Amino acid sequence: MRAMVYRGPYRVRVDEKPDPVIEHPNDAIVRVELAAICGSDLHLYHGLLPDTRVGHTFGHEFIGRVEQVGSSVERLQVGDRVMVPFNIFCGSCWFCVRGLISNCHNVNANATAAGGIYGYSHTAGGYDGGQAERVRVPFADVGPTVIPEWLHDEDALMLTDAFSTGYFGAQLGDIADGDTVAVFGAGPVGLAAARSAWLMGAGRVIVIDHLEYRLAKARELAFAETVNFAEHDDVVVLMKRLTDHRGADVAIDAVGAEADGNLLQHVTGAKLKLQGGSPIALNWAIDSVRKGGTVSVMGAYGPIFSAVKFGDAVNKGLTIRTNQAPVKRQWPRLFEHIRAGYLSPRDMITHRIPLDQIPEAYHLFSAKLDGCIKPVIVP
Ligand code: NAD
Ligand code: ZN
Repeated sequence: MRAMVYRGPYRVRVDEKPDPVIEHPNDAIVRVELAAICGSDLHLYHGLLPDTRVGHTFGHEFIGRVEQVGSSVERLQVGDRVMVPFNIFCGSCWFCVRGLISNCHNVNANATAAGGIYGYSHTAGGYDGGQAERVRVPFADVGPTVIPEWLHDEDALMLTDAFSTGYFGAQLGDIADGDTVAVFGAGPVGLAAARSAWLMGAGRVIVIDHLEYRLAKARELAFAETVNFAEHDDVVVLMKRLTDHRGADVAIDAVGAEADGNLLQHVTGAKLKLQGGSPIALNWAIDSVRKGGTVSVMGAYGPIFSAVKFGDAVNKGLTIRTNQAPVKRQWPRLFEHIRAGYLSPRDMITHRIPLDQIPEAYHLFSAKLDGCIKPVIVP
C-alpha cells in the first residue's frame, strides 16, 4: 500500500509499505477514507519527540471502512464505516474502567508515557498511523464507532481528535457562568476550545495568536475577541488590562511545543534559552489567568520542555489540568450539538490533499502557508 513515512526532521514522503495484517484476534484492518494532519504531527515532523523512527507512518485522525476483522471481533463487521479515536485503549484495565482511556495501561510498553496513540512514535506505542491507504486498528471492539448516517464524514474526522480535544480542553477549564476564557493558539484545537467555551457558559472568549488569518477564523467560527500577540509588547499586561486587572478566569493552552522558538523569541523579545522550542504560551496562560483561576493545558510538550513556571502556578494556587483527551467520551454530547446545528467542526478544514502530496501538505501546515488551518489527506 501507499503510506506516509517519516525520514527525519522536516522530511516525510510517500512510500510503498506492506499492507497491515491482523496481528491479534481483536484487530481490524481499516481502509482509510479520510485522514487529517494534526498540530501534534508537527511536533513529530519537527523532530521534537524522542523515538520517532525512520519509516514510521503518522496519522492519528482518520475515518474509513472496515476491510477485515480478527476472529474475536464482535461489534464490527466488514464494510462498516468507522470513526476511530486517536487513543488506542483496551477498555478493561484499571485506567480504562475509570474512564482514563487515554491512559490505558495495556497498549504502551513505555510506562512513563501516555497510553497508545496511532502514528505517534514509539513513545506512544509505535503503532503505525492512518496517513496511509490502510491501518491496523487494535481492540477493534473498543475504540472505533460506526459513523452515524446523519453525520458528515468530515465532522466525524474532526471528532477523532482536534474538535473533541478542544471541547475537552474547555471542559477541563471548569468554566463557570460568565467566565472570561483566554485561549492561546488559534489552530484547530484552540478554535474548537473557543467555540465550545460558549456552550459551557463563558461570558467572554479571547483568542490569542499571531497569525491574522487564524484570528479571523476565531472571530468567524468561535465568535471570539482576538489578540495578535505580535502587535503587543507584553501580552500578559494586555490580558490583565482586558480583564479589570484581575486576569482571565480560565486559560487554555492550545499551542504546546513550538518548533520555531526563535520566531517567538524575536516576536516577543523574551530572553529565553530555547532548545528547539519553548513553552511560552503555557507561561503566558499561567501569567494571564487570575489568582485561583484554572489553566487547562491541551498543548503537547515533549520531555525537552522543562522551563515551565510551575512554581508560580503553585504560588498562585492554580489548578492545572491536562491529559491526552479521551475523545470518545466527548462524542455523545458532540453528536447532539452537531445534530442540533450548534457545531460544525468541518468548517475549519481548509485543504483537501491527495496522499501522494503529503510532503507538500506537511510543509503547508507547518509553515502556515496559504491560509492553512486543517489539512485533510485523501488516500
Ligand atoms: P496548530 O499548530 O495548528 O496551532 C497552534 C497555533 O498556536 C498556531 O496558530 C500558532 O500560530 C499558535 N501559537 C504559537 N505560539 C503561540 C503563543 N505563544 N501564543 C499563542 N498562540 C501561539 O496545532 P493544533 O492542531 O491546533 O494543536 C494545538 C496543540 O494541541 C498542539 O501542541 C498539539 O500537539 C496539541 N494537541 C493535544 C491533544 C491532546 O489530546 N492533549 C490533542 C491534539 C492536539
Ligand atoms: Zn491530533
